[in-house]
Parts: sequence; structure tokens; C-alpha cells
Amino acid sequence: MILFSGIAAGRPPPQQAKRVTADEEAPLLYDVAVVGAGFSAIAVTIHLLRSLPPSASMAVVGDDPGFGRGTAYRTEFYIHRLNVPAGRMSVFPEEPEDFVRWLEQHARKVSSEGFASRGDYGLYLRDRLASLLRDHDRRVTFDFIKAKAQNCSHSSEAGLVFKLDNGTELSARNVVLCLGVGNADLPLKQDHIAIGAQKRIVRNPWRLSWLSRVGRSDTICILGSGLTMVDQVLALRVHGHRGPIRVLSRRGLLPHPHAQASHLAKPIEPELAGSREISALLQGFRRQVRNGADWRGLMDGLRPMTQGLWQQLSSDQRARLLRHGLAWWNIHRHRIAPEIFLRFETLRRDGIVTVHAGFLEAIEEGHRGALVSYRQRQSHRSRSFNADWIVNCTGMERAGVAHSPLLKGMQRQGLIAADELGLGLSVDKDSCVIDCEGRPQPGLYAVGALTAGQFWEITAAPDIRVQATNVVSAIISRLPHDVQD
Ligand SMILES: Cc1cc2nc3c(=O)[nH]c(=O)nc-3n(C[C@H](O)[C@H](O)[C@H](O)COP(=O)(O)OP(=O)(O)OC[C@H]3O[C@@H](n4cnc5c(N)ncnc54)[C@H](O)[C@@H]3O)c2cc1C
Repeated sequence: MILFSGIAAGRPPPQQAKRVTADEEAPLLYDVAVVGAGFSAIAVTIHLLRSLPPSASMAVVGDDPGFGRGTAYRTEFYIHRLNVPAGRMSVFPEEPEDFVRWLEQHARKVSSEGFASRGDYGLYLRDRLASLLRDHDRRVTFDFIKAKAQNCSHSSEAGLVFKLDNGTELSARNVVLCLGVGNADLPLKQDHIAIGAQKRIVRNPWRLSWLSRVGRSDTICILGSGLTMVDQVLALRVHGHRGPIRVLSRRGLLPHPHAQASHLAKPIEPELAGSREISALLQGFRRQVRNGADWRGLMDGLRPMTQGLWQQLSSDQRARLLRHGLAWWNIHRHRIAPEIFLRFETLRRDGIVTVHAGFLEAIEEGHRGALVSYRQRQSHRSRSFNADWIVNCTGMERAGVAHSPLLKGMQRQGLIAADELGLGLSVDKDSCVIDCEGRPQPGLYAVGALTAGQFWEITAAPDIRVQATNVVSAIISRLPHDVQD
């Protein structure tokens, strides 16, 4: 396994990347720059390396030490499994078995329908990148710049120019923004959190270092009851925690497991697939279930058409769906591996994990740790319990621009605009970023959850890999002829 830092070794340090001409040194104007260092960035990079002609140049700017693994795939816990079967996780949409082959070659006993560890998936991605980078004769000029992009401007000669936090600048004709989304804020106003309780709150559970501060029998309160919560419960157990875990979320809804076999995928009835009304779709769905179809199969059958259905909805319908249907959608669409579900259910049955449905009202100092108060769903009674730690697992932040100083700066300059539901950036159907005047910006693209306003379901690897190949095709078609040849 070649680590990414090893791949870059032997090439000029990125900040010195210059094209030397006879009489002067001019900064390199890259044909493509990818900004970001998570799955979206690695997927775009892999497809660019396969498709760009050797005469082209590209750079990746990212600050993540585990390039390509991002939040999702840098975990070292084997128990952190993919929530999509291995047979659907190849980074190459046209070679669906690629990841399964990698698992076989590495003696991992996971079939196409099985759920590999997320850490292994991160290794797979880096292996695929490494082998493309080793092919020096056929690949593009490639630089990896370990930095964060701080702001961006546009000039007609230099294309898009990024100022990096290492004090250098980078210019590119085409840019792909792969910045991910931030962690959601705590669902509570600051003045409802006692100062003394602040140190008890884990705001970003993805920094797994918080686990080493937890005592074996501490009481943990997890806010949110989705996939992140399940991840953290399992990580706590692996870390030796044996105390009670209290889960609090508005509805107390938990993720469902995948079915054991994958042959359940059922096509949605053709007239439903064309439906413009969510209520009609739901009615038809229920009818198919009453007639014996497995709901998981129907949900899987819906996957290839979800983006199209979303795009048919009006803004009002989309807003209504987010308001009333999001929690239900998430638990049915984003399911967990059966084995993980069983482990979690065992912890619930044994009384180690308890789930409460209610609205968080305050976090105060308690006689031991913090006192968490909430209003119970339905009964509206006030309840409270003590917890040593409160862990924010309410998910990913959805107002995509607010978390990123780079995006906020680009928004101020009018280079980008937030989409109307605040899910991320405004992009067109080709993932081309739309500016504040509603014009697509040729050469500026976004990939991943930032484009949820246009595509809705664009967080899972099977969706992002397709988007990555489409964006790469658009970039190739924009290259000047002297680079294309
Ligand atoms: C815990 C978890 C488990 C998941 N499991 C699965 C699964 O099993 N199957 C599946 O299909 N999908 C899964 N997903 C969903 C999906 O794979 C992820 O959403 C995907 O990894 C997102 O990648 P990303 O690159 O868009 O974002 P991120 O992983 O968030 O990466 C964004 C990167 O951009 C960098 N960055 C941000 N700003 C800047 C800047 N200004 N300059 C430079 N770099 C910057 C960040 O440091 C980060 O490295 C999971 C997601 C999570 C969080």
C-alpha cells in the first residue's frame, strides 16, 4: 500500500510548482484544480487521471491527512461498516465488481451483497489512486497541495485563483469544489446551555479522540438517532465503555436494517415513476406493499429515479417534503447492515441503550455532569436526566455555504449562490455552479452533498461516482485543442 504522502514524494513541492519558460518563471495555470480531500475529491481525481491527456495538468488542494477518506472512510474501527453492499461501492460505475475484486485480493471475506468495513473502503480508494499515479508515462502533470483554500477570485487571464493558507496561490481553468458539508450545530440556542456544562458537550463526534476522555461507566447522552448515533454507540462499546447510553431525538426514529438478500429490488410501477405528487407516489407505494412487495425492494427500486423525481417537484413541494418527510425518508432510504442492526438491537434489549422522543430544551449543570432537559413528544411533559457527556449526532449541516469561509467569500463576490432551500450551492443539471445572477459559471463545478439542492440524493458513493464521471466529461470537452490532442 502506498500512502498518499509517498505518492507525492519525488515531485517538486507543490508551492513551488512552476512552469519554467526561457526568460521567466510563470506560476502554473492548471487545467483542472480539485478543492477538497474527501470521497468526492478522490472520485473526481481518479476519473480525471483516467481521462485527461498526458499533456494536461491538474492539482488537488486538500487539508485532510487521510486524503480521499474524509469523514466517512478514515475510521479505524472494523465495526464501522459501509451501509451500502460492496457490489455497489466500486468507484467506477462501469466496473461494478471492482471493489469486490479488491476485497477478494486482500482476503476479506465479504461478498457482493455483504457490508465491508469503511476503513477497508478508504484503503481501496487509495490503492486505486496510487496505481493511476504510478503510471508516470501516461498520466497528467499532477500536484497534491496540502493546504486549505481560503478565498477565490476570477480573472480572465488566470481563470479562478485561490489563495491558500500556506501563503501561496493556485490558478486553474477548471475547478471542482468537493468541500463536503459541515457538522450540524447543536439543536439548542446558546443561552439554553449552562457555561459549566459546555465542557461536557462533544460537538463533532467525528474527531474520535473524544472517546478517550470517556470513563467506562459514564452516562452518555447522544442527540440524534440516525446513522451517526449508531456509529458512535458501536465505537463506545469497542472502546470499552459499558455505561448507559441515552439517545434523544425529536421523533425517536431509528434506522432500519437492509434485507439479508439483495434480490428484493422491485421496479416501481411505471405510472408511479412518472408521478409529480408525493402523496400519489406514497399511495401507490403502500398499495404495492399491501400486494406483497417488500418495502426495502421498492425503496431500492426508487434509487435510480430519485434525482429525477426530486427535480420534477416544485419548490413548495420540496420544502414540504423536507419539513414533513425527511426523518421518515432517511430511516427507510439510508439503512444499516443487518449485523450492525442486530448488535444495536441487542444493546437496546439489554437496557444499555434507551431511546427518548422529545425536544431538547436545556443543558444545565447537574449534580453529576450535565442535566439534559427535554419535552417529551406527544405528552409534552418535561423530563430530564443526568449525563456525563452529550454527543451531537444530529447529522450533517445542510446549509452548505455557512460552514465554509471559502464559500462565504465566494458568495460575497457573487461567484456562487446558495440554493433556494439552503441545502448547498445553486448548480445546474451538469453540476456547473450558478452565480448570484443566475448564470452558470463555465469551468466551475461542485460535486457531493453541496449539490443537494439540484440532486437531493447525492451523499452516497454510488451517486457521487456518477456525478464525478459526468463532471470529468464536461471538463474534458472544455479543454483547449492543444491539450486534448
Ligand atoms: C460516517 C459516514 C458513513 C458513510 N457511509 C457511507 C456508506 O457506507 N456508503 C455510501 O455510499 N456512503 C456513505 N457515506 C456518505 C458518503 O460516502 C460521504 O458523504 C462522502 O464521503 C462525502 O465525501 P465528500 O468528499 O463530499 O465530503 P467530506 O468527506 O466531508 O470531505 C470534504 C473534504 O473537503 C475538505 N475541505 C473543506 N473545505 C476545504 C477548503 N477550503 N480547502 C481544502 N479542502 C477543504 C475537508 O477537509 C474534507 O477533507 C457516509 C458518510 C458518513 C459521514
